[in-house]
Amino acid sequence: MQITEIFKSIQGESTHAGLPCVFVRFTGCNLRCSWCDSEYTFAGGHRMSHEEVIEEVERLSPGGGLVEITGGEPMLQEREAIPLMQHLLDEGYMVMLETSGERPLHRVPKGVVKIVDVKCPNSGEPDTFFMENLEVLGREDEIKFVLSDRTDYEFARDFAGRHQLASRVNAVLFSPAFSKDASGDRDTSHCLLDPRELAEWMLADNVAARLGLQIHKFIWDPAMKGV
Ligand code: SF4
Repeated sequence: MQITEIFKSIQGESTHAGLPCVFVRFTGCNLRCSWCDSEYTFAGGHRMSHEEVIEEVERLSPGGGLVEITGGEPMLQEREAIPLMQHLLDEGYMVMLETSGERPLHRVPKGVVKIVDVKCPNSGEPDTFFMENLEVLGREDEIKFVLSDRTDYEFARDFAGRHQLASRVNAVLFSPAFSKDASGDRDTSHCLLDPRELAEWMLADNVAARLGLQIHKFIWDPAMKGV
């Protein structure tokens, strides 16, 4: 499989934020989100065998723990990613899959926690969500909307309500987009949408969703890779 990096850090998003986690970052993505902070995954990387990836995960987190399969878009290499996730589950790891939502997810092994994006209008990749994925999401999974303005917020609010997402999954996440060129200061001035404004909208509309901040951006320089 083509891998950009494997590293250990703190999980920055989802209901598992704050936990130590090994990230296996696959190379390549078929989308081009306007605020993407992972453009360095679009090309390059290096070939690794199934065994080499397992070995590296075990070295970084011996005996279990949290592993996130991410990218880029890992499901573009599903022939390799699916057996990898199953092997990690069998070894006792808790496995999360971070995916754009554009790829079909019905072959993802049971037991994997799926963190699935629904791309909003101003992401540059609207209408890419594979709607049949709603049927394969379960109570352990999470749906994430990355928001850059009021238009995105209203889309997410209405989508979540229309499809009753809160009753389908463990969490519906509304997360302000972070400026992809941000570096230096670690504060909310880099958010494209002010979290306070988003919180006020969510409270006013009584939205059944959780406000999520990418905590790794506030711990390390937002421009840093491998964290
Ligand atoms: S799906 Fe993810 S990796 Fe691909 S362009 Fe969008 S944010 Fe970047």
